[in-house]
Amino acid sequence: MTSAIMPTYARADIEMVRGEGVYMFDAQGRKYLDFISGIGVMALGHCHPHLVKALHEQGARLWHTSNLYRIPLAERLAERLAAVTFADTMFFTNSGAEAWECSVKVARSYHHAMGTPQKFRIITCSNAFHGRTMAGIAATDQEKLRKGFEPLPDWFKVVPFNDLAAVEAAIDDSVGAIKFEPIQGEGGFTAATPEFMTGVRKLCDDHGLLMILDEIQCGVGRTGKLFAHEHYGITPDVMSIAKGIGGGFPVGACLATERAAIGMTAGTHGSTYGGNPLAMAVANAVLDIVLEPGFLEHATQMGQRLEAAFQQLTPNLDDIFDPDAPLPGMGLMRGIKCKVPNRDFVNHARSEGILAAAAGKDVMRFLPPLIIEQNHIDEACERISAAAKTYRKPEA
Ligand SMILES: *Cc1c(COP(=O)(O)O)cnc(C)c1O
Repeated sequence: MTSAIMPTYARADIEMVRGEGVYMFDAQGRKYLDFISGIGVMALGHCHPHLVKALHEQGARLWHTSNLYRIPLAERLAERLAAVTFADTMFFTNSGAEAWECSVKVARSYHHAMGTPQKFRIITCSNAFHGRTMAGIAATDQEKLRKGFEPLPDWFKVVPFNDLAAVEAAIDDSVGAIKFEPIQGEGGFTAATPEFMTGVRKLCDDHGLLMILDEIQCGVGRTGKLFAHEHYGITPDVMSIAKGIGGGFPVGACLATERAAIGMTAGTHGSTYGGNPLAMAVANAVLDIVLEPGFLEHATQMGQRLEAAFQQLTPNLDDIFDPDAPLPGMGLMRGIKCKVPNRDFVNHARSEGILAAAAGKDVMRFLPPLIIEQNHIDEACERISAAAKTYRKPEA
């Protein structure tokens, strides 16, 4: 496969040509049950009629104006998100990494505004994934992300995830914020413990630090709540979101309380495309559906059923999966621990018509659209079983 695209991905040699609900079809007409949804992006499945309509209508009206002018659709989306979250204010971006990067600038500008500019460092967690910008890769200890790009800025102190004592020990005069994913995505679907989440909140309050959550993968209904932190009964000061909020259109946002965003004044930040009318029309349409009564309850119920189905499945497939390991994740962000090489098995499962992805060193992860029904869960289990039966471990 030669291509003029930089070879930074180990892509599967498959061309997807069409999507419909929970399914995708390739150029050979093969049908796939899409239980990864473009890495958690297609929260409403492929070509949801309400999103297609919003995109078509806005596409015939106005695409882009830049932020030289007011964008009413962005104002509307911001008001709606503010109404259902802790946030008072937000900045729209085109990707998760930009939304996360904006949260770094919020933390910096906050401490400048407070007269504590020496608090420039941020505590982050091991195995984190915050995107591929230079700051994003500096914020994690994952070697495969950092390797070949050093030197990286010394702005982050990485501590073990879910280790509250390590966070506390890392707080010094240079630290201004603590930042992590409530449920680690790429890192292997490890969820923050309640003690960690509430403990970090308290440490932030006691030390004048900002608590920043990266809900780019776990947000927008993925865990059955609109945002994952709602399971823990705390609110952050700042939060980055993306993926699901665009339903397939590139949109991200950095949400903040008014106090945390005190330094983000006119001229301090910008984006040519951020919050453009096309993106905002689609994101508003996503919210229309996600905020409909019963939608999150459905996602919660499907999450419970998926977990139950996997619990039943794994003991029968114990040459592939570890039936004794708890299933990592939460809601419709669910993984299974593999005994065999996870990437290899994910690739094999695709040939049985089910799309998943690998996470961490041994997790097969699933991020199905939030609109799945019981029959899709049944079909997923059948296809995983079929894949397990035909799987041959690679020669060592
Ligand atoms: C995907 C992801 C990002 C990066 O988002 P991009 O849109 O790829 O820039 C950052 N953080 C988390 C938790 C993610 O899952």
